[in-house]
Amino acid sequence: MKADRDIIIVGAGAAGLTAAQYAARANLNTLLLEELAPGGQCLIIDNLENYPGFPDPLPGIELSQKFEEQARNFGAEIQTSSVQSVSKRGKLFTVDTDNGPLTSPTVIVATGAKHKKLGIPGEEEFSGRGVSYCATCDGPFFKGKRMLVAGGGDAACDEAMFLAKLTDQVIMVHRRDRFRAQRALAERTLNNPNIEVRWNTEAKVIRGDGKVGEVVLWRNDKEEDYTEKVEVIFVFIGSIPQTQIVKALDVRMDEAGYIVTNQRMETSVPGLYAVGDVRSTPFRQLVVAAGEGAIAAHAASQHIDELRGEAYD
Ligand code: NAP
Repeated sequence: MKADRDIIIVGAGAAGLTAAQYAARANLNTLLLEELAPGGQCLIIDNLENYPGFPDPLPGIELSQKFEEQARNFGAEIQTSSVQSVSKRGKLFTVDTDNGPLTSPTVIVATGAKHKKLGIPGEEEFSGRGVSYCATCDGPFFKGKRMLVAGGGDAACDEAMFLAKLTDQVIMVHRRDRFRAQRALAERTLNNPNIEVRWNTEAKVIRGDGKVGEVVLWRNDKEEDYTEKVEVIFVFIGSIPQTQIVKALDVRMDEAGYIVTNQRMETSVPGLYAVGDVRSTPFRQLVVAAGEGAIAAHAASQHIDELRGEAYD
């Protein structure tokens, strides 16, 4: 049975684009599908200062264009196409797209995760101008300033601890009176002298003039609100991994719904790989995503070698 492609990669963020580059360079007939512009989360980073090899900060869009150019230079084809589902019959996957079905013996899922949003006035308006979903990316721009963090899970605690290295004024607001985070992490957060935790408190409105200037906070136990002058609010209230396309495959996921892989980025379904933010991982960063893309392409290439001469040629 002949396949349309050796490898189909879904999602053109840093992970998908790097996978495409490595797959094409390994001489695989490589197709990368993306429903929006290639680049993923990288596109919304104003100034990227922690990608190795680029000591001067550069706009995320510039780096993603370099990723894309490099993948194309090695022969990867990038198509704008939305993927509805991935299914498997025998040793071949069928990727259903809005341009019709495509088959391949390997598929890399690089669909990312979407940050959950507070859904309050000002959040959209000031996104990237004081509303942030990434402490590592944006924290350094607010060094020494008062910073607000919303959330009470592992991510909120982790990121608040990171921010507390940049300032001694982190205010953390959580809607309940106890953290959801693991106990050890919660205790370290509570014991950090640079973090002030305010329980039963929710961000209600974000205001400013061109950028964030203040946030109205709601004390839900006292039913009163007050205003806090801050230039930045970091929102860590969970994220939604984009796994809809692999629903039919019964792939193993963790409790939070991220795809579980081994060190080779192999999922529980042979021939299916997951990389980047959709993968169950402790550290979601561009450089990590790119590395995972390279590993998955290499593992997929070996998988194809093993299959050749069998059902797929
Ligand atoms: P999470 O565990 O789902 O926690 C989300 C937090 O945000 C909860 O405290 C929740 O409050 C709060 N929240 C949710 N919606 C809200 C809203 N609309 N308004 C205000 N607050 C809201 O998400 P996460 O912290 O991003 O973690 C996701 C997964 O990654 C977890 O499995 C976590 O263990 C893992 N992770 C692990 C580490 C680590 O091990 N170091 C680091 C980061 C993430 P309630 O508690 O009231 O529901």
